Amino acid sequence: MSDLILFWHRRDLRISDNTGLAAARKQSPKVVGVFCLDPNILQRDDIAAVRVTYMIGCLQALQKRYAEAGSQLLILHGNPMQAIPALATALNAKAVFWNWDVEPYSQERDRTIIDALQEKGIAFLTENWDQILHSPAEIRTGGNAPYTVYTPFWKNWISKAKAKPVETLQNAEGLTAIEQEIAQQTGAIPLPTAKDLGFIWDGGLVLPPGETAAQERLEEFSASAINEYQEQRNFPAMDGTSQLSAALKFGVIGIRTVWQTTLEALENSRSDETTTSIRTWQQELAWREFYQHAMYHFPELAEGAYREAFKNFPWENNEEHYQAWCEGRTGYPIVDAAMRQMNESGWMHNRCRMIVASFLTKDLLISPQLGEKYFMQRLIDGDLSANNGGWQWSASSGMDPKPIRIFNPASQAQKFDPDAEYIRQWLPELRSIDTEYLVTGKITPLERRAVGYPDPIVDHKIQQKQFKQVYQQQKN
Ligand SMILES: Cc1cc2nc3c(=O)[nH]c(=O)nc-3n(C[C@H](O)[C@H](O)[C@H](O)COP(=O)(O)OP(=O)(O)OC[C@H]3O[C@@H](n4cnc5c(N)ncnc54)[C@H](O)[C@@H]3O)c2cc1C
Repeated sequence: MSDLILFWHRRDLRISDNTGLAAARKQSPKVVGVFCLDPNILQRDDIAAVRVTYMIGCLQALQKRYAEAGSQLLILHGNPMQAIPALATALNAKAVFWNWDVEPYSQERDRTIIDALQEKGIAFLTENWDQILHSPAEIRTGGNAPYTVYTPFWKNWISKAKAKPVETLQNAEGLTAIEQEIAQQTGAIPLPTAKDLGFIWDGGLVLPPGETAAQERLEEFSASAINEYQEQRNFPAMDGTSQLSAALKFGVIGIRTVWQTTLEALENSRSDETTTSIRTWQQELAWREFYQHAMYHFPELAEGAYREAFKNFPWENNEEHYQAWCEGRTGYPIVDAAMRQMNESGWMHNRCRMIVASFLTKDLLISPQLGEKYFMQRLIDGDLSANNGGWQWSASSGMDPKPIRIFNPASQAQKFDPDAEYIRQWLPELRSIDTEYLVTGKITPLERRAVGYPDPIVDHKIQQKQFKQVYQQQKN
């Protein structure tokens, strides 16, 4: 057996601050990377072209980083349950390392691969919880149970010491010519484009792909916007948030590096307001971990509602209403602006994600699962745990004990887009209409017709009552 270790990248598309990769390099000078384009994932019906485009860009950057470190990143296209053990066998690798993941499919796939490697006598190391600061086993209640409520989770999570960034891969030895030939025979291919894989995205990307771009965004954000995050994060017309979500989803930046940056920002803070802002941003990172732990402990969340009252909820699922919501044609300006932002840019501001999710479930009485899937089909950062967590929270169907949360689109717009800047940006047909009418939604039918903007498809007041009634019946 050679001393080669194959490092399998999944959602850790970087070589810096990568715990599994650093562990591999510690055990051998010869570390070769592999990424497997998995048809089980790529052929699902909830994959966004923008997300695949970003991912392929990150893989391209990762190949370059490997080359700079003296090694290689191989690309496979096939079922990893066969492809990974086959490649490891062909290369005579002594071990395959990777970082662990919370998603149900990943866990099942990984167990199959572990069995196959064990059968072949190839070692493996998978215990690295690289994408989160604390493993699900570390954060438990006094009674040794997983948390189901965020606030006590946060208190426990923030009280624990956090790891520093790990060493970056360097001076690794790549494959010899013979091994390269073997790799080709076992299916390693040149990196395809997103288009080659059937995904066409003509729009831009809110974050350029690759480690360097993610690192630069983090530095830029922590030098400025983080200091006013508490105040600005809720205003969708502002650049008040980091837009690092796609990088965090694909692990293009290490979470320990991100955390270290927040600690440095805290050290440099000169006012209580700044400190509060940085703390608030840290809490968002903890929400991300809370939802990942939840998915790990309660994989049934991926299948539907957590709370009993929502398990057999009689959603109306009106097809026309659903289409209008998807296309940003509901006649509610803030809702439509948000949906068009997602459709056109592949990203949506968090405040607006909450508004449109509340609107779909509480105003249109459409199942959150339909909304969740549409988000996955459109978002650059589409992520099972965060998306499911956000939808369960908005639908009131999740673990959070607060039962009913109904957002009034008009009051949300009045509060968070008071000058209708965001509405005008994404609904250009409404640009000439007075701000007051845009935020309250009280645009006359005549004006709507004149600019080709639809009438409201439902009445918020009536729908809200209707939802509450159905909910009361379900609860009893
Ligand atoms: C219905 C709904 C669906 C969502 N779907 C996703 C999704 O598919 N993928 C995704 O990454 N986030 C999702 N979120 C959470 C949140 O909207 C995004 O993470 C955030 O808008 C990304 O922008 P940012 O990077 O500028 O965030 P910032 O405000 O800069 O926050 C920093 C990071 O913290 C994490 N984060 C922030 N808020 C949350 C949150 N509420 N839950 C979990 N993690 C959070 C993200 O990784 C984010 O990049 C969803 C929220 C809702 C309400």
